[in-house]
Amino acid sequence: MPLIHQALCAQCGGCVGVCPEDALTLRFKELRLDQARCTECNLCVALCPVDAIDPVKPFTTG
Ligand code: SF4
Ligand code: SF4
Repeated sequence: MPLIHQALCAQCGGCVGVCPEDALTLRFKELRLDQARCTECNLCVALCPVDAIDPVKPFTTG
């Protein structure tokens, strides 16, 4: 799964809108990734203006 860096995230909501699987949600100023929905397309990684999401890696804690 993509790895989200909460400290970098500006909560702009852009990745939430671009995810075709609705796997990303912003709640209480924390971006959450639903691993059951994510297809690892990396659209969110490409979109994020502050590089707060790293591409798919073998080992992540989300
Ligand atoms: S990698 Fe694709 S499916 Fe997964 S959260 Fe990002 S945009 Fe959504
Ligand atoms: S696009 Fe980047 S800065 Fe915006 S909500 Fe997503 S992870 Fe955070």
